Parts: sequence; structure tokens; C-alpha cells
Amino acid sequence: MQKLSLYGLAIGLFVNLWLSGLVPSSQAAPRDQTCLAPALARVTRHTVKSGETIEGIARQYDLIPATLMGMNAVLRNGKAPIGATILIPPYNGIRVEVPSGQRLRDIAARYKVRPDVLFEVNGCQTSPRVVFVPGVNWSPVSEGRSSVTKANPAVLKGYPLPANSTVLLGYGWYLPTGQGKPVFHSGIDLSAVIGSPVLAAGDGVVAFAASQGVYGNLVVINHQQGYQTRYAQLGSIKVKAGQTVNRGQSIATVGSTGTPSSNGPHLHFEVRSNSNLGWVAEDPNPFLRSRP
Ligand SMILES: [Zn+2]
Repeated sequence: MQKLSLYGLAIGLFVNLWLSGLVPSSQAAPRDQTCLAPALARVTRHTVKSGETIEGIARQYDLIPATLMGMNAVLRNGKAPIGATILIPPYNGIRVEVPSGQRLRDIAARYKVRPDVLFEVNGCQTSPRVVFVPGVNWSPVSEGRSSVTKANPAVLKGYPLPANSTVLLGYGWYLPTGQGKPVFHSGIDLSAVIGSPVLAAGDGVVAFAASQGVYGNLVVINHQQGYQTRYAQLGSIKVKAGQTVNRGQSIATVGSTGTPSSNGPHLHFEVRSNSNLGWVAEDPNPFLRSRP
């Protein structure tokens, strides 16, 4: 036992030295039985069958849809093409290429994960070129692009409801009651009376207006400057795909269709930005705060 713990201590010391930059990253770390195979070596494959959705496939593997979209460019338009073979990582996170000249601890700092966790998850490799960063939600920010939420665009100055509303559930990770693991909420739940009007947050063109899985009745509007808004859990829908809408125009009513994340009646509202990775969910809060 003592020998084991001493060995563990030695490993820990080596990791600390390596993390503090005292050991060159090219030097191989001693492999230990505590080191699992790298997460990216444990990726499995799944062939999309008829009727399957990204959400359904994610649920099947206990993952969030963003993880699958991050790993598989083919899913980034929100649809799972039948027959496509997609990669399934062992848990939630993102695949990151390590920029030349950067070390694992730089990646850990960038994504705010513990360096020792990142090291172990990636099989105790000291200078991997590609790593899996656990627990990070795929987004343009996590791909190293600057966030666009600070842009405060004029195209999204509207509020999706007739009056300011209470936030029942914000954007980001949360722990649903009775579940042991966190879930990612891609939008914001704004408290609203069932049947009250839902308003377009900006001028744009309706890209989608129908029922869509957990979203229930969903309206998607594409705006200028690479923005998109989504309005979900709707009652009735008053617009059609392809239709031009103006800011403040009534596009639907508040409902309770699909699988809402909050219990009280609400509008699920999303802001997405277009990137080379597809439409990526942003935190809607800065947009709602920025209204005149
Ligand atoms: Zn929601």
C-alpha cells in the first residue's frame, strides 16, 4: 500500500512539475494505471436511423445535443441525416486542437477546467495535438472565436413579449430537480401568461414555423448580421416559413407544447449567432438588457 501511495505521490509531483512548466512538455509522463485511455480514443460511432433526432441520440448516450453537434459538423444545422455516421464521445465536452506553442495547461486555463483533470481525461499525454475538454459546451467561444454577444446589434433591439418578464430559467448549465447530472439550457425561459402574444425581437425572415421535438411549436427567425432568434413552447403559430416579419410583430402565442424546462407558463427564447460551425446558442440576457 505504501509503495502504491508513494508512486502516486511521485506521479502527482511529476504532474505538478510539468504543470508548473519545470518539465519540458516533450518529455513523456510516466504512465500510471489511474490514466484511462484518452477520451478521444474512446469515441464510438452511431449510424443515424430513420426517425432519430439529435436530441434523441444525445439522450440515448446520456449526452447533450451540443456535444454531438460539436463533434459532428454534419449535425450543426440541427438535423440528423439518415445514414450518417456520427461520433459519440464518452461524456460531454468538446474536441480542441492544441495550437502550436501551447501546452495542455494553456488549454486548461482557456476553458477554465482543472489541469489535472484535463491531463487524466486525455490519457496523461504531455503534448497531445488534439484534446477532449470535458464539461465544456460547444459554442463559437469554445472554438476560440470571440463572442458576438458584445456586439449589441441593432437588429435585435426588440423584446419577445409585450412587457418585461421574469426569468424562470436562465441560459446555461442547470441541475434539474430529481436528476443527478447537469443539463444545458440553450435559451431563457421568460414567464408569460398562456395565450399572450409572442413578438419578433427584430426584423427578419421566418426560417421555420412548425412543431419540432422538445421545442414544441417553434418559430425561428433569421436576422441581419448573422443572428437568429428562436421562440419555443408556443401555443398557436401565426407566421409561415419564408415570411418577412418586423420587430414587434406578433408571431405566435405563449403555450406549453414540447418539453419545457420550467414548470410555470413561459416563452423559451433563444438567440443564436451564425458561425462556420452553424447556428450557435448565445446567452440571450445581454440582448434583452440591451433593448432601448
Ligand atoms: Zn427553456
